[in-house]
Amino acid sequence: MDYFPIFLKLHNQPCVVVGGGGVAIRKTQSLLEAGARVTVIAPRIESQLTRWVMEGKIDYVSRQFKAADLVGKRLVIAATDDSDTNRHVYEVAEDIGVLANVTDDPDICRFIVPAIIDRSPITIAISSAGNAPVLARLLRQKLETLIPAAYGRLAAFAGGLRGRVKSSLGSLSTRRRFWESVLEGPIAEKILNGQEQTALELFDAQLAEHVNEVPRKTGEVFLVGAGPGDPELVTLKALRLMQQADVVLYDNLVSTAVLDLVRRDATRISVAKKKGYHKMQQADINSELIRLARQGKRVCRLKGGDPFIFGRGGEELEALADAQIPFQVVPGITAANGCASYGGIPLTHRDYADNVTFVTGHRKNNGDLDIPWSSLVNHRQTIVFYMGLGSLPLIGRQLQAHGLSKDTPAAAIEQGTSPEQRIVVGTISNLSEQVLAAELGSPTLIIVGQVVQLAEKLHWFGQPLIESPVSKQPAPYLNPIAVRAS
Ligand code: SAH
Repeated sequence: MDYFPIFLKLHNQPCVVVGGGGVAIRKTQSLLEAGARVTVIAPRIESQLTRWVMEGKIDYVSRQFKAADLVGKRLVIAATDDSDTNRHVYEVAEDIGVLANVTDDPDICRFIVPAIIDRSPITIAISSAGNAPVLARLLRQKLETLIPAAYGRLAAFAGGLRGRVKSSLGSLSTRRRFWESVLEGPIAEKILNGQEQTALELFDAQLAEHVNEVPRKTGEVFLVGAGPGDPELVTLKALRLMQQADVVLYDNLVSTAVLDLVRRDATRISVAKKKGYHKMQQADINSELIRLARQGKRVCRLKGGDPFIFGRGGEELEALADAQIPFQVVPGITAANGCASYGGIPLTHRDYADNVTFVTGHRKNNGDLDIPWSSLVNHRQTIVFYMGLGSLPLIGRQLQAHGLSKDTPAAAIEQGTSPEQRIVVGTISNLSEQVLAAELGSPTLIIVGQVVQLAEKLHWFGQPLIESPVSKQPAPYLNPIAVRAS
């Protein structure tokens, strides 16, 4: 370790910034945020510094730096563009024992300034010891995404209760166990979700249990939407809970790339529903979730897309609510949004569609589709069929029978948002043949409506479009239907 990391308390301490440009502004700002008394020394200063002088936030000495400027100071930052001045500042500071930093010159620095993640009162500092500041900054970006903004609130909550815990729980190890259960469990989740009062009530109950030495671990279920496949479409909240879970129950729609984001040592249980047979019945999944949570486990129920869109998320939560198991729901990017974006098919568009409907193409046991067809045959409507691959010929026939033109554009998107994504574009009368010819498999999403014609222009991801010759023929619908008001 080349540097000894410390956090300096600079509140009300006299500090100096030498220089009056952009870097000096940034350094002055950081020092002000830490509560320091800042004197800026430079023959000229930029307007932001002048503003701070007028507002009485900083002192300003309008001339070149002199050795006497550092007498009685704690710390100095040299931020001029003149290397001789910077070196001079450093040498004077070294001479009289003032901590000195010269921006961008680690060789003449007594201290260096780390990249920071500010979740006050939590602060994370990252340093590359001057070797690669850009790398330190990239690392900071990564960590920024992993640490919820609300962690500061969590730390403040814990800070406010530390005294109470210390006086209630005698031994250090009991206190540590107690804090782990608070900061990794439902109490922390309540704080992060903005429910401080409930958190406080749970905290009181948990503290009482620990005082009586009967800590009861409370489990919880996270119903998490994993998105359509691309792991970068997983939300930060989903990622955090996936990293917390002890057990993960996942569907076959959850991509391997997403599953890789789950905590390494978590138990993974596949509840894959394959067409024709169910590996695990819905009722069994519900009772498994309840059983695991009752053991005190944090259970992540990971579902493809969004749990509340054709995901039976509602049913699972009802079972949990009946069993009084605490739960959270994290929305995911549903297949319609994912496939539309990655396929270049805007679901609504001022010229082509003012509404969009999500329907299931899943057949009932008698082979019928329970769909209100006449409400779908609106020319300016986009219809998205989930689970529609098997019933595609029927969908095409019904839409035509209820009045939609046979030339209405339609697309089938297979494995949307994954590198294997394939899109077949045609019309409602020929799409099923095209899909058969291209041998599309599951999962495939069907989009019907005028917006589909935009794919040709806006398609940007995955394999090239597979277009039917018919869809290329000019048809009346190729002209925008509406005249824009503007
Ligand atoms: N809850 C999920 C949908 C589950 S229903 C969601 O919100 O996305 C399963 C159907 O979703 C599949 O039959 C298919 O039509 C569609 N689907 C899910 N992921 C898909 C993907 N990556 N590409 C294409 N279709 C997908």
